[in-house]
Amino acid sequence: MSTAAAISTPPAAGGISVIRISGERAIDIASALFKPFGRIPVSDMPGHTCAYGRIVAKDGEILDDVLLTVFRAPKSYTGEDTAEISCHGGLYVTKRILREVISAGAEPAAAGEFTKRAFLNGKLSLTQAEAVADLISAEGESALKSANMMREGALFRSIKSVCDKLVSLLGGLAAWTDYPDEDIPETEPEAIEASLIEAESALKKIVSDYDGGRIFREGIDSVIVGRPNVGKSTLMNALLGYDRSIVTPTAGTTRDVVEESLRLGDVVLRISDTAGLRESPDEIERLGVRLAEKALERAQLVFAVLDGSSPLCDEDREILEKIKNKRHIVVINKSDLPQKLDEKYIHSEYILKVSAKEGSGLEKLREAVYEMWGLSGYAENPTVFANERQKLCCDKALSHIAEAIAALKSGETLDAVTVCIDGAANSLLELTGEKATEAVVDDVFSRFCVGK
Ligand code: GDP
Repeated sequence: MSTAAAISTPPAAGGISVIRISGERAIDIASALFKPFGRIPVSDMPGHTCAYGRIVAKDGEILDDVLLTVFRAPKSYTGEDTAEISCHGGLYVTKRILREVISAGAEPAAAGEFTKRAFLNGKLSLTQAEAVADLISAEGESALKSANMMREGALFRSIKSVCDKLVSLLGGLAAWTDYPDEDIPETEPEAIEASLIEAESALKKIVSDYDGGRIFREGIDSVIVGRPNVGKSTLMNALLGYDRSIVTPTAGTTRDVVEESLRLGDVVLRISDTAGLRESPDEIERLGVRLAEKALERAQLVFAVLDGSSPLCDEDREILEKIKNKRHIVVINKSDLPQKLDEKYIHSEYILKVSAKEGSGLEKLREAVYEMWGLSGYAENPTVFANERQKLCCDKALSHIAEAIAALKSGETLDAVTVCIDGAANSLLELTGEKATEAVVDDVFSRFCVGK
């Protein structure tokens, strides 16, 4: 395989930049450019050691004083010989050094190339490689936790254990085909069916955990609605202060919809605070209403805020009418004041009383969100898919298993059943990457950034 090189740090000015070179010629290329201040030549540097020196271009120009770290195959991230140049973090100097590395014989690395090499050299499973991509983009603690768990192979292990069972079933069936007179217990239709049902329920459990996992990774698009002065902004601020964990304060896209990301427990909520939903003769306000309606349409969750210290008015009713078919929580605010709102006119599953001003009742909001998405037991069960590709493979395996069970029940030959089980095992092997096609592998790594 060729020797690949790329800048592995973000393309921005910083303290240090790292240029990674991996492949058969990595050490040679590094030694052509790097002049150590010490006596040990690069070719003699043992793996996992570094040296201080300078990068000198082919034409003799001194480019930078750097640290060179050497990793020897197979003990490196990619499993190949690897050299990493840590130079000063200026954009120009970093690119200049990369150019020298390339003119010394390296090829520019494609997106995800280093991780792909790690996969091809057996350093990572495909699910672990995908977890590396997730880790890089993880936004919250839970996303980080689940990416890390995945990298350690939690999903790989659970899928593998189901797959091993299917493979051993296939082994039994093959033995039965070859030695039909032997009494092989696993080939009794009841025993096969029992094993298939077990595999099916293990996979179904993983699939059902997927939605929860996705919410933790991707967050929930939410919107706050309510007439003026019910306390929407105060509630937003209280929620921001509640967990003191603003994830990414997004600048408002328009003057009328303020968008902010905040965390409720371990879930990221992207909340838009809308200007209002009521028609108005004012043109600018009407524009605001259109934007608010769009935000509402997109939202996966609506917080409808009411003022508990005043009776329900027509505008409140209009708002409740508009959101009744969306997943929503009615938040009756100002619970610290004498209550005048009559709840019997509100027909919602989740009606919570809070005081945004005093910060009370906010925990109930978190509980409601967790309940709505079934997230409570999630933390203990991190075996979730990282992406749709993995989920599709699992779905395919499940439909093959269902076919196998149906074939058994309708008394079809064991050959027909074998074909279905074989299909299921293959889908799972594709999921873990043990039997992925080149196209699948390329597709997975194309999603990475260059330098990883
Ligand atoms: P918005 O127009 O819906 O965004 O409402 P604001 O958040 O600006 O709040 C309107 C007024 O209600 C302000 O004077 C707040 O201090 C007050 N307010 C908001 N929440 C509460 C609460 O829980 N209790 C009390 N007593 N006042 C509140």
